[in-house]
Amino acid sequence: MLKPYADVIIDITHTAVDRIFQYEIPEELSGQVSLGMKIRAPFGQGNRLQDGYIVGFSEKTDYDPLKIKKIASICEDSIPIEGQLICLAAWMKEHYGSTMIQALKTVLPVKRKVKTAQKRYLVRSAGEEECRELLSLYRKKNQKARVRFLEALLEDCVLPYEMVVQKLRVSPASFKAFLTEGVCRLETESSYRNPVKDNSPGGASVCLNQEQRRVVSGIWQAWEGDRKPCLLHGITGSGKTEVYMELIRHVIEKGKQAIVLIPEIALTWQTVMRFYRQFGDRVSIVHSRLSAGEKSDQMERARRGELDIMIGPRSALFTPFPDLGLVVIDEEHETAYKSETVPRYHAVDTAIERCRLAGAVAVLGSATPSASSYYKAQSGAYHFFQMKKRAREASALPAVEIVDLREELKAGNRGIFSRRLTELMEKTLGRGEQILLFLNRRGYAGFVSCRSCGKAVKCPHCDVSLKAHRDGTLKCHYCGYEIPIPKRCPSCGSGYIAGFGTQKVEALVRAMFPKAGILRMDMDTTAKKGSYDAILSAFADGKADILIGTQMIVKGHDFPKVTLVGILAADLSLYSGGYEAGERTFSLLTQAAGRAGRDRLPGHVVIQSYSPDHYSVEAAASQDYEGFYWHEILYRKLLCYPPVYRMLSLLITSKEEETALHMAGLVKKQAEAVNEDGILELVGPAKASVSKINDMYRYTFYAKCEEKEPLLELMGQLEALSWDKGVLYQFDME
Ligand code: ADP
Ligand code: ZN
Ligand code: ZN
Repeated sequence: MLKPYADVIIDITHTAVDRIFQYEIPEELSGQVSLGMKIRAPFGQGNRLQDGYIVGFSEKTDYDPLKIKKIASICEDSIPIEGQLICLAAWMKEHYGSTMIQALKTVLPVKRKVKTAQKRYLVRSAGEEECRELLSLYRKKNQKARVRFLEALLEDCVLPYEMVVQKLRVSPASFKAFLTEGVCRLETESSYRNPVKDNSPGGASVCLNQEQRRVVSGIWQAWEGDRKPCLLHGITGSGKTEVYMELIRHVIEKGKQAIVLIPEIALTWQTVMRFYRQFGDRVSIVHSRLSAGEKSDQMERARRGELDIMIGPRSALFTPFPDLGLVVIDEEHETAYKSETVPRYHAVDTAIERCRLAGAVAVLGSATPSASSYYKAQSGAYHFFQMKKRAREASALPAVEIVDLREELKAGNRGIFSRRLTELMEKTLGRGEQILLFLNRRGYAGFVSCRSCGKAVKCPHCDVSLKAHRDGTLKCHYCGYEIPIPKRCPSCGSGYIAGFGTQKVEALVRAMFPKAGILRMDMDTTAKKGSYDAILSAFADGKADILIGTQMIVKGHDFPKVTLVGILAADLSLYSGGYEAGERTFSLLTQAAGRAGRDRLPGHVVIQSYSPDHYSVEAAASQDYEGFYWHEILYRKLLCYPPVYRMLSLLITSKEEETALHMAGLVKKQAEAVNEDGILELVGPAKASVSKINDMYRYTFYAKCEEKEPLLELMGQLEALSWDKGVLYQFDME
């Protein structure tokens, strides 16, 4: 039956999205209206006709049915981009259990209501030397404002005008002289508008090899055919990025636009620059460090047709391109694609839905696809493509060996370097080649723990360890609790408190190889802006022999002279909890191993492990994705985990542990009632793995099923329970 009422939002601005209004669908329009459609309807006291969008339908209304207003007409222009994004929001609401408002706020770009004044910048023109001389001059004269200004200018060549005047408290009178003397100049926003800045000349495009051409034409066939999602499984260095760029060229030729999702800007800056060199200022990026205004600016440019390509982390998916043709999701297995805030959407599935709505194709690329995507490719839901060769002729895959750390202990070696790794390090240094040492501390990095009693410093309000920050504080990432990094262990009072495993590794390596040049990359050494790139380029230029680091160093960088990669503690991520721990470990180890021998020189990889026969470690050592996959999928099947089963998880939180438990009990009862026929597998309730956050107790409940629909049904039933006031709950669908 057709539902007689429509939920409408009037004018899509950030604040107005706060409310949904109900309208009656008049008989003459019934059957013609659909989700996302633009309509006109009387609004407010004067009943002036306003544009609105249909965001849902209902059978009943909360208003008096006699007084409810009617939709006046349908706007005839073709379905605007907002309509598509609204449909996407509706889909997200259904699948991830959020409200329509929450979903709309995620999907619709925040529009600035008032146009802010042109932003101005002070840009350094004089050389560093000259600035330093001026600095010491004004220090002597004790002109503090000018000193502050020059110091800032030395640190950063471009300073926002407002920042200088308001934060630095340097009055325009103080820097006027610098402007007239040409120490700095004033520029407006338009010259700094595009967040991608690069001075290098346009790069020549490479000539695709046979494997790449095969993949491009295969995906293009899908584009012209059924437009199903495409999974590209290509080993590191096989030239996936070149394939994406070629596909994007095709799409642009057709007058359409493309979105490229990447897990994290900072780690993939090199990739971003490659796109920029190819496509110039038709490319833009969005990322978390842009202000809301800057972000909305880029989104507006996309809407106006000034851009062909948007690159960014998951929120770039909602770029309002008028005619989207392609969405590329690079490193599709990365956890960063899952949103941690409501709606807890997964960017891969959401991208696929956006593509379906837009008639575009989603291309997922990875050297280690998620078990879930590979499973779908196997079942035929996705097209599947493979690239098994490295794109640069001479580079072969490295030789990988696993060292059993238990054997080392038995042989009396208590150090963190096995005998084999030490030997290979000596040889590599002897040949004048480079070494990467990778410390797998995923989920551990940044924790400060005591080397005497072993305890980590914890948040008093949450059941988690505090994380060290660059400003010398420890912060709780859940509640914001913050203290200075303590000098002594709060548990036992010992002074041996330390957090950075890489520091210790560095000290040991220095002692072993006093002549070697060593660089370290972790939170400490990358604290200053630009230092991340500085370390990488120093190493790439051969200014050091050894680079030590955490996962920061394994992503997407090419170091042609690295011929040895040592992975010091391969196992840590195996015990990080969650059914995906094996997958995480495999992909991290495979990526780390892939850093060796990327050019002409043969590479060597040593994986040190306490569980050398774990299938994740073994498969990574032999770079055997399929071997890993079949093991992993069997485990998922046996334990009814995604992707074989669908899983609905429910998180219940409350200040009172009693109340949370009580509600969890009701949930269980209701779920059992729904599950009369026993098609659902119910698990819990149980304490969540982080059992307390912000003094709120947390319980989880899971339901698994081969089909999605019974789980959505259950979700509806559970939402309809009478929830205690003091209890919060959150669904997550995998
Ligand atoms: P992936 O994204 O799969 O890791 P990239 O696209 O980054 O691989 O390619 C790895 C390296 O090989 C890059 O330096 C790239 O410029 C180079 N490359 C890729 N394809 C070709 C090609 N057809 N001919 C020459 N070099 C190529
Ligand atoms: Zn202690
Ligand atoms: Zn906390």
